[in-house]
Amino acid sequence: MIHSILKKETLSKEDLIYLLSCSKDEEKILFDYSEKIRINTIGRNVYLRGLIEFSNICTKDCLYCGIRKSNTTIERFQVLKEEIVEAAEFAYKKGYGSIVLQSGERCDELFIDTIDDILKKIKKISNNELGITLSLGEQNKETYQRWFNSGAHRYLLRIEAADENLYNKIHPNDENHLYSRRYECLKYLQDIGYQTGTGVMIGHPFQTIEDLADNLLFFKKFDIDMVGMGPYVEHQDTPLYKYKDTLISQKERLNLSLRMIACLRILMPDINIAAATALQAIDPLGREKAVQIGANVIMPNITPTYKRKLYNLYENKPGGDEGKEEIHQLLIERLKQIDYCVPNDLWGDSKHYFERIKKGD
Ligand code: SAH
Repeated sequence: MIHSILKKETLSKEDLIYLLSCSKDEEKILFDYSEKIRINTIGRNVYLRGLIEFSNICTKDCLYCGIRKSNTTIERFQVLKEEIVEAAEFAYKKGYGSIVLQSGERCDELFIDTIDDILKKIKKISNNELGITLSLGEQNKETYQRWFNSGAHRYLLRIEAADENLYNKIHPNDENHLYSRRYECLKYLQDIGYQTGTGVMIGHPFQTIEDLADNLLFFKKFDIDMVGMGPYVEHQDTPLYKYKDTLISQKERLNLSLRMIACLRILMPDINIAAATALQAIDPLGREKAVQIGANVIMPNITPTYKRKLYNLYENKPGGDEGKEEIHQLLIERLKQIDYCVPNDLWGDSKHYFERIKKGD
């Protein structure tokens, strides 16, 4: 059965459901196939992005997220502008090629100006060589355009749930958390010319296998360039925590995440797929496992260490010692051992983006 599905030109929702719930024996066939597709389409490179999670101050109240506005149990922080630029310089010197700036969501003028200034400074200290991905939530089109003009060229905004009803179950139902707005923001990003990334969490309350298949088809329909998706990990100071006993085990969430990555690689062979940090929260080698079945981007945390533990999206968030020379080398070593390589100083852009732009011309 699985062989006939994998032979198909395009995968239907039913096919994806089959693959996501296949037997252990078939899983091996699925993973071998997705690895083969990846190697044939984009080769064996794994791109590192230095991840700087520079603030947990957030105006949103997503029901799953540990840094949500209503969580009064955490200390809020904002890394200084100079420290962010220093972290970027560290990444540049280490040959990472590009960085990701991520934070809680703010849309005030001070925030927008600060990011703009940081982008210009990072471009300057790196002779325009360091690539910059932003992951700063929903903004208006002018803001996205302004940041694009100042040097950001990729943007990650997870749709979180492609289905609007499901989206509404994991977000407060108010004007500040509209599915339509999130969707519109993704469109803005694509229109402006960003390499546009999205994604979902896997195994959160209320989500079914059908939803997961729909998420994959959403990425395809949207013609997305990059995807970051990983297991949902519960956080005790969030409203969704009360559903923890309804969830599949963390190990099963990890496995399902790997199957999602494998299916996506088959569905969209030339996009960038990140091995999300949350994979590593469940299995120390979770990211490497994702690389072996189709992921081609890893985002080691290079946030100034004294702030790292405060960016607590979920429990057991890993990465506390990343950025240190020996940890960096260990990651590269482990990837080499499984026959993947980490090139220095490359942006590692999404091949799909260039194909998409060519088609649009
Ligand atoms: N505020 C920004 C980025 C910060 S959150 C934005 O909205 O894009 C980054 C991602 O972390 C979210 O998109 C979400 O999918 C993920 N995340 C949040 N809480 C999580 C949890 N409990 N388990 C796993 N991933 C989580």
